[in-house]
Amino acid sequence: MQADSLPSYSKPSLAPAASVILIIDDNPKSIKALSLLVRDFGEVLFATSGAAGIAMAMKSKPDLILLDVEMPGMNGYEVCRQLKADLSTRGSGIIIVTSHSSVEHEVEALEAGAADFITKPLNAPLVRARVKTQLLVKKQADALQRLAEQDGLTGIYNRRYFDEQVAQEWRRHQRQRSPLGLALVDVDYFKAYNDEYGHQDGDECLRSVAQCLTLALRRPGEQVARYGGEEFVIILPYTDNVELLKIGPWLCEQVRNLKIPHAKSAVAQWVTISAGLASGIPSIQSGPDHLLGLADKALYQAKANGRNQFVVAEKNLE
Ligand SMILES: [Mg+2]
Repeated sequence: MQADSLPSYSKPSLAPAASVILIIDDNPKSIKALSLLVRDFGEVLFATSGAAGIAMAMKSKPDLILLDVEMPGMNGYEVCRQLKADLSTRGSGIIIVTSHSSVEHEVEALEAGAADFITKPLNAPLVRARVKTQLLVKKQADALQRLAEQDGLTGIYNRRYFDEQVAQEWRRHQRQRSPLGLALVDVDYFKAYNDEYGHQDGDECLRSVAQCLTLALRRPGEQVARYGGEEFVIILPYTDNVELLKIGPWLCEQVRNLKIPHAKSAVAQWVTISAGLASGIPSIQSGPDHLLGLADKALYQAKANGRNQFVVAEKNLE
């Protein structure tokens, strides 16, 4: 596959999306009544059993789940506990809906991990107020989460987020015995750039390179993060050395094409990058640091060879 013919895909947006509400209730009439009350808050999904609800929550990651307690099979409390125990669903807020209005039931709901409690028969203004509150809580939590993952200067993902993602990808690729690729990118003669143009322009340069690398990625799951200083790191899922040999020059070319003047560069009149790339099938014995080490050595080699170029690590993970 040629680098310039990689399939395009829509970039994951950092902006908050519209709310998604999932109603889990065995009674279609209850689902209808609830959805009429909350449908103007966002998209409403529904499931008529605990098991189907959990499956749907995993797939659609709703902001809020309205969960009936009295259901055949798994009751609402159990569904709630399972949703809160699973990493992929624990982020959804849960409001328990039940016809039992007693302190004990309310306590059980909260202990199971629910954020709030609504009793039947439904009181329309109360339901709407509680749903609105929980959606707001979720939005604030999401905003905090994004801030925690973001690099303040460039707006792309930060090192902390990268560390979490690469550990996750490592395990996933290990399970699937697939090659995971990494690229370490360094802006050439960046200190000289700062000295020549000043720190404000230096910051602007880093923002431009960060955006350029983000836009250069074409395949789902590829993620670029600021690794520190003028270094960036890119996670390349399902990528072997053959692909790296195409991605390396593609990245270098994209940054060169920005044509950011760099009078103090010894290798070009524009801002350029050096890139070190490595790939391998993760093993149980080692961790992502092993792959990062290989990419780092390759980057060192690219710099030693004269910068404005890439090197793919020849040695793979053992
Ligand atoms: Mg029921």
